[in-house]
Amino acid sequence: MAQPRIPHIASIEIDPAYRPEWFVESAGAHVPLPPPDVTPPRTDLPGTVIVWTDSNHSHLPLISIEQGKPHSRYDWTSWWQFVVGEQYRRLSRPLYTRLPFHYHRIPGALRNMAARLMLSSQAPSTQLSNAFPAFPIEQGFELLVHVWRRFALPPDQTTPFTSETVLTHDVDTSAGYRWVKQTAELELAYGFQSVWNVVGQVPSTHFPVLDWLVDHGCSIGLHGYNHDNKLAFLAPEQIRRRLDACRPLIERYDIRCFRSPSWFRSDALFKVLADYVTVDYSRLDTDRSCPGGVGGCLWTKPFTLNGLTHVPTTVPFEDPLYWGHTPEQLVDFWRPKVDWLHACGGGIVVNTHPEPQFSGNARMLDAYARFLELLAGLHGSR
Ligand SMILES: [Zn+2]
Repeated sequence: MAQPRIPHIASIEIDPAYRPEWFVESAGAHVPLPPPDVTPPRTDLPGTVIVWTDSNHSHLPLISIEQGKPHSRYDWTSWWQFVVGEQYRRLSRPLYTRLPFHYHRIPGALRNMAARLMLSSQAPSTQLSNAFPAFPIEQGFELLVHVWRRFALPPDQTTPFTSETVLTHDVDTSAGYRWVKQTAELELAYGFQSVWNVVGQVPSTHFPVLDWLVDHGCSIGLHGYNHDNKLAFLAPEQIRRRLDACRPLIERYDIRCFRSPSWFRSDALFKVLADYVTVDYSRLDTDRSCPGGVGGCLWTKPFTLNGLTHVPTTVPFEDPLYWGHTPEQLVDFWRPKVDWLHACGGGIVVNTHPEPQFSGNARMLDAYARFLELLAGLHGSR
C-alpha cells in the first residue's frame, strides 16, 4: 500500500470582487495542495491573481486571470481529482476493526460511549491546528471551483447547479427496523421518498418492512455485507467475496446504491464497488464523522470518479449529538448549512439511523419532523 502523503492544507483568500453571493465570511475556506509528484506547481501565474493562500504568512498565488482566461498553480484536473478523491486524507484503521469478533457484540450503551469518545476528538474547532475541515460548512474548494468554472468554461456550460434533496438512512442492526415505518411515513407526509441502506446479512424476517418501503416508492441501498467496519480495509478479492454474498439482496431489491459502514472508504473498495452499484453515498463533503479520521471530498454536488458516481453526504443529521448538542438544537444547527447548500446548488443529502440510540426515539423523531418541515419549505411540495 502506498505511504500516505503529508497533506498541505492551505487556508485561502479570494478577491472580494470574485466572491459568489453564497460566500460565508465566518465559514472555513481551506484547500489541500497537491504534492509535486501529483502535479508540480507553476512558479508564477500570469495576469491578476484572484485566489491565493493565506497560510504560514506566505501568499502563494493559486488562480490568476489574464485576458479573461484562468491560470491555476496546479494542473486543474489533477488537483480536482486529488481533492474529490480525498487523496490528501490519512485514514487510520481503529483497533476495534481488528477484533476477532464483531464489535456489535459489545453492548450498545458501551459501544455508543466508545463512539462518542472516538468522535469527540474530531469535534469542530476554531483552533488553527484543528480548523480543517471546517464543519458544517467548508467552502474552500467550492470557491475555487466556482471561480475556475466561471472563466474556464464556455458561457453555455456555466449553468448554476440545482440543489437536490436526498434523505438517506443506514439501518445498522435489527433494533433499527422497529422505527423504519414510522420514520418513512413522516417523510412521505412531507412528500419525500427516501433511501434505506441495509446490511447484506439482513435476516429475511425484515423483508416485509423493506417490501413496504419499496411499495411506497422508497429505495433500498446496500450498507456493506455486515457492520464490522472491515470492508474498506480488505484486499480487493475479499471485498468482492463479501459483495458477491450480497447479490441475492441486490437483485431482490434492485439495489443501485451503497454507503460504507461508519463511512470507512478506500480506493480499493470503490474500485470493486463499481461492478455492483452505480451510486455511492460513502463520502461526506466535510467529514468529522468517520472514526478513521477527518477528511471529505470538499464538494457538495454529485461527481463521477473511476466509473462510480459519488453523491456526497452533506447533512449527517445526528452527528452534532456527539459534540454536546441536544436533539432540540439540531434544526437550528443545520439551518445555515441548508441555506448555504440551497444557495450554491449543493445536494442536501441527509443521513440518519433508525436505531433507538440515534434517531429511533420520540425526541429525535420530533427534531427530524421539524427538519423535514424546513426542507419541504425550501423546495415546495415534491
Ligand atoms: Zn452504519
